[in-house]
Amino acid sequence: MELREDMTPFEAVNYFFGRAAELDELGDEAVAVLSGTFRELRVQVPVRRDSGDLDVYIGYRVQHNGARGPYKGGIRYHPSADLDEVRALASLMTWKTALVDVPFGGAKGGVQVDPTGMSRTELERLSRRYFGQIGHIIGPTRDIPAPDMNTNAQTMSWFMDEYGRKHGHTTQIVTGKPIALGGSRGREAATGRGVVTVMNEAARDLALGSPDELTMVVQGFGNVGSWAARIAHEQGTKVIAVSDVRGGILVGDGIDVEKLVEHVARTGSVVDFPGSEPVDNETLLTLPCDVLVPAALGEVVTHHNAEALSCRMVVEAANHPVTPMADAILADRGVHVLPDILANAGGVIVSYFEWVQNNQEISWEEDDVNARLERKLSLAWRQCRDFMAGGPEMTLREAAFALAVSRVVEAAELRGYL
Ligand code: NAD
Repeated sequence: MELREDMTPFEAVNYFFGRAAELDELGDEAVAVLSGTFRELRVQVPVRRDSGDLDVYIGYRVQHNGARGPYKGGIRYHPSADLDEVRALASLMTWKTALVDVPFGGAKGGVQVDPTGMSRTELERLSRRYFGQIGHIIGPTRDIPAPDMNTNAQTMSWFMDEYGRKHGHTTQIVTGKPIALGGSRGREAATGRGVVTVMNEAARDLALGSPDELTMVVQGFGNVGSWAARIAHEQGTKVIAVSDVRGGILVGDGIDVEKLVEHVARTGSVVDFPGSEPVDNETLLTLPCDVLVPAALGEVVTHHNAEALSCRMVVEAANHPVTPMADAILADRGVHVLPDILANAGGVIVSYFEWVQNNQEISWEEDDVNARLERKLSLAWRQCRDFMAGGPEMTLREAAFALAVSRVVEAAELRGYL
């Protein structure tokens, strides 16, 4: 596929897939199957507002590929969650689960809605209605949702309850649940912990320095960004700037992240953190630092700003934050990019652990979960690093995609799908 500035999210993921297909020397049949999606469901989600009005939203569930196991992927509530974006996110899940070797396929769901002004009861009605509408293609051995942007453990509780009303109590139907309902210890922090694990391994192997020598900038202070910042800070990394949808803050000497978490709990945002100076989200991306961690939306590093980035490494905590054109610019500039399918895979790894614990009706200790998570991610990192070193010149993203694609192809061939 030709590199263009205006690629849609799904075209962008398929551009990276296409590079992997070349490296893996895939035939046309495999490319035809794996560049499309298996199933796409679009549903109408009418929600009665507290005011008495009826709002009608559109929701999706896209199952990209299930060769390696049940479909797996989060559900987001966001105005940008259209079919193309959900397809892109579903396909990223296929490559992510294969790269970190958990026995799942790839899926994603979304409702095109801005949930920020919704009350708790409206959110509950929205969640139950959407889950009811996609329920016939969901199941604990078929398709297992999880949280994503603007959904959380409470949303998963409503989903599980809704499913249980029809099919009987089934904890394995969703992951990212609260611990009281069968969630895994360590799940909430897992994606952020994984981001830091991969960042530290890469920083060591690429000679960027040890955790206490690194400076870090984080865009997004939700589940992923806040845990990544907290865990990096605990390990001695200087977090100099963070942001959320309302704006950013900068503290040149390093932010006390625990204090910032308290500030956010009190005020609802990182802005106005005492002792910080304000910085807007666009400038934040270009601040001089060792590691830039986009942990909010997709497509924030583009051909418009890639030249202006002043970091040595980008760690893709968000999904598809770097466009293909920006990726090429960063590669030319020698800026390392740790791709999303590796950097943010901690969430799906611990989701897999949660599903395993639910299936066995047991519960692991948090230290055990964290140690297993770190082992899996550090193995995936070493495999990408070694694959990159062992072939023709390629980026880390190309290595990660090539490894992942070859595993999906192997499973699809063994099952007679290809
Ligand atoms: P979240 O809803 O908990 O947090 C999102 C954060 O981004 C919030 O701080 C929000 O204020 C901020 N934000 C929103 N719009 C912004 C903007 N325009 N500029 C700057 N900040 C903005 O979501 P999350 O679960 O932390 O997910 C963040 C990203 O990580 C998404 O791309 C998601 O797909 C990806 N991801 C999440 C998980 C997970 O386990 N939650 C796993 C893998 C990948």
